[in-house]
Amino acid sequence: GEPLGVNVRAVPLDNGRVAIEAADVTEAHRVARVRRDFVANVSHELKTPVGALQLLAEALLDATDKDPAAAIRFAERIKHESSRLGRLVSELLELSRLQGAEPLPEPEPVDVDKITAEVLDRTKTPASAKEMEVVFQGMRGLTVYGNENQLVTAVVNLVENAIAYSPESTKVTVTTSASGDGYVEIAVADQGIGIEPRDLDRIFERFYRADRARSRATGGTGLGLAIVKHISTNHGGRVTVESTVGVGSTFTLRLPSRPSEAALALPPSVEI
Ligand code: ADP
Repeated sequence: GEPLGVNVRAVPLDNGRVAIEAADVTEAHRVARVRRDFVANVSHELKTPVGALQLLAEALLDATDKDPAAAIRFAERIKHESSRLGRLVSELLELSRLQGAEPLPEPEPVDVDKITAEVLDRTKTPASAKEMEVVFQGMRGLTVYGNENQLVTAVVNLVENAIAYSPESTKVTVTTSASGDGYVEIAVADQGIGIEPRDLDRIFERFYRADRARSRATGGTGLGLAIVKHISTNHGGRVTVESTVGVGSTFTLRLPSRPSEAALALPPSVEI
């Protein structure tokens, strides 16, 4: 368990006696530990691709004269690793912005059809690379209240995951609906590999992957769902998941359709 943190100090009183003051710093210790763990995780996540790039560059130099075909393979892997590294750095920046104390930037009514059109556009390339189709269905003309860029990022992340963790030629369905109590739901359903029940609670944590090897192969950083979670809570909404291994997963974003007092009063989700 957590070590109990107590700061104790002696306070001399006017009457000549001494009072003992004890402050519970257990929470401060926890925060410090979470921060240390995060820095350690980030360092590890950055070191791995950098190490791989060094080895690949050496192998490439070695193979240039001897084995041109191998040299091409090494160059391709360098390209893949470096683009993953670039994505890791930009997602880390994005996450640190979302976790900052800034309130939601420029919240306004956002047309859900505009979000889905942008998502379709941004996921066309990865979808067609796997001969997959992204289908949009449900209610038209819905509005959510928030920041358009962030909302597009959240749905793009969910659709990209749906594509990455599905076999070729399967379908991704994005369904929009109004829940009737002032919320809009955007559900992203795939026919993919699914998620084990024991992983379900943890996949929204930074750097958590159910299957490290597969996530690396798909170019994953382990940050996508942490970003989605921050965006939804910053909007006064939430993200949930239902999944069956071997059948598929459905991620549902629930977002307020108008500036509710609850959403506006909500501080940005601060995590360390
Ligand atoms: P990654 O960059 O690894 O995809 P994410 O934070 O986006 O990181 O997702 C965390 C983990 O959750 C993934 O590594 C994967 O194991 C699992 N996951 C996310 N989306 C899906 C999905 N649609 N189907 C199956 N597994 C998923």
